[in-house]
Amino acid sequence: MDWFPSRDGELYAEQVPVTHIAEQFGTPAYIYSRKGFEEGYKAYKQALDGWPHLICYAVKANSNLAVLNVLAKLGAGFDIVSVGELERVIAAGGEASKVVFSGVGKQRHEIRRALELGIYCFNIESEVELERIQEEAEAMGKVASVSVRVNPDVDAQTHPYISTGLKDNKFGIDIKAAPAVYKRAAELPNIEVVGVDCHIGSQLTTKEPFIDALDRLLLLADQLREMGIILKHLDIGGGLGIAYEAHEHPPTPADYLGQVRERLAANEHHSHLEIVVEPGRSIAAQAGMLVTQVELIKQSDHKAFTVVDAAMNDFLRPSIYSAWHGIEPVVADSQKEELLCDVVGPICETGDFLGKDRKLKVTEGDLLAVRSAGAYGFGMSSNYNSRCRPAEIMVDGNQVHLVRRREKLTDQWADEMLLPEG
Ligand SMILES: *Cc1c(COP(=O)(O)O)cnc(C)c1O
Repeated sequence: MDWFPSRDGELYAEQVPVTHIAEQFGTPAYIYSRKGFEEGYKAYKQALDGWPHLICYAVKANSNLAVLNVLAKLGAGFDIVSVGELERVIAAGGEASKVVFSGVGKQRHEIRRALELGIYCFNIESEVELERIQEEAEAMGKVASVSVRVNPDVDAQTHPYISTGLKDNKFGIDIKAAPAVYKRAAELPNIEVVGVDCHIGSQLTTKEPFIDALDRLLLLADQLREMGIILKHLDIGGGLGIAYEAHEHPPTPADYLGQVRERLAANEHHSHLEIVVEPGRSIAAQAGMLVTQVELIKQSDHKAFTVVDAAMNDFLRPSIYSAWHGIEPVVADSQKEELLCDVVGPICETGDFLGKDRKLKVTEGDLLAVRSAGAYGFGMSSNYNSRCRPAEIMVDGNQVHLVRRREKLTDQWADEMLLPEG
């Protein structure tokens, strides 16, 4: 489903022409569709209907309060990786009791705050962290629910794009070492073991690696049962990909989770397991785009550059992941000549581009839409080159809401100070 349809050659955000939004709020700007986030979430809800579950939206994908609030209203839980994300969830009306806390470097003050608010579960990523949580929980007279994030070492030969589920990377605990960690956790008085979890990577476009990982988690659950440790939930992480390009066909949540449910239902020891998922990109990416204006066209002997007013500080994915995002004029004009060009920002870095070798019918002053920018867009923005971060706008039907005003120059240095005179 496209929340940014084209009507008579003009792009809309739900029912509002994108040109109107750009005129009102300026560019560059992120434009979100409320319906996009809602339907993204509901796809998971429907896929898990009838099975005990918790859908924890990965806050880092897009942490704007309005986004979190829209999802909280639907009953979403949240996957957080810092106390900042936890406070955002609370400020946006989310429930702490539906929060899972991931990340390799949780600090003591973050653990204390999470215990104070009563989160659902800590996804622990090391034994050191387990002991830390025990100490903090004991001092506060609380019991902390934990799940061990295991690293299932899904085969890199067959699935080379998986970057977080391999032996060599920093995430999780080697699945072979996990039983010993569970044994220790079960002995600790202020720890309650509730689950197992993994998150093997992001932007996966086939089910196989997920299912491989699931099978390894289930073997571990069996091993733990023999040790007398019964898990309540199975957290299969996030990572489901989206179609950045039209020829990509990632599985739908229904397809992927249907297979997970089949696997669990097939074994009486697994059919009681609650399913926890942590989707980020697959809920947020298609619910947003970045709108930018063409500043000028620069022609050199070899190449044409469409220089726009958005840059890598606004949208980093093309620069750091060589990510491909669709770029199209907001108002199509077939009369214009097609130009083969790189779409670049004004920042002093060769890596500052939004797209390479694109065929676009553009001239100075045109608006361009960078598609699928609702996830890992604004959240990764910065002030590099002393540029103000863009405005964020959410469209709801025919209503347009500013959900973060454009940063002002004085905001940028409000917390800086000069040395004393003399
Ligand atoms: C980033 C992250 C997610 C979300 O990943 P997506 O690819 O955006 O779905 C889920 N869980 C953890 C632990 C993460 O770090």
